[in-house]
Amino acid sequence: MRLRFALFGMCLLLAACGSAPAIPAPQHSSAGSKAPEVVKQNTWIAPLDHANERVTKKPFGIFITPQNSPVQPEKFTGYHTGTDFELLPGETEHDVIVRAACAGAVIFKNQVSGYGGVVVQHCTVNDQPVTALYGHLSLSSVAAGIKQLQTGDRIGVLGTGFSDETDNERAHLHFAIHRGAAVELKGYVQTKEELDGWVDAGTVLGLPL
Ligand SMILES: [Zn+2]
Repeated sequence: MRLRFALFGMCLLLAACGSAPAIPAPQHSSAGSKAPEVVKQNTWIAPLDHANERVTKKPFGIFITPQNSPVQPEKFTGYHTGTDFELLPGETEHDVIVRAACAGAVIFKNQVSGYGGVVVQHCTVNDQPVTALYGHLSLSSVAAGIKQLQTGDRIGVLGTGFSDETDNERAHLHFAIHRGAAVELKGYVQTKEELDGWVDAGTVLGLPL
């Protein structure tokens, strides 16, 4: 009996562990088969409430120059690697909560030039490893020992606009999904080929763009 409980406990541990082996995708050949449960492992949600209303300035892949940018003044030039989520009216005076868009470990948390506070999380898209970058955060709002996150877990709050927390940018969230497991911090790249290293976060999140 004791052994049976021990095995059961191990299964629970494995199920709760993000590094558990991937479950083979079910075959789709038989008509009427149920939707694959494995999709749950890769569920993504928008990192902010009311996400659909927030992408008003810089979607993924837009080519920004100081002349054409919807944000003035602009210091960047290049293809935008992330999706920018803006504040909604009335939010300037309130904390805007940022949540984990996916399930996975936090692998980076630091102050970064061009961003202010940054958190990077390891996740998967279609069973392929990716990193999810949350830029312009208030690092002091992020738990010191932050590690494994489930989808929807609170990461912290947006940094205050035009402060060190946002590296003097307006208050907003730069959210980017990069292919592979290595931390990649670039917010802009100079060629379309380089941009292929990122996934369109708006598409992954199902935003109507
Ligand atoms: Zn951005």
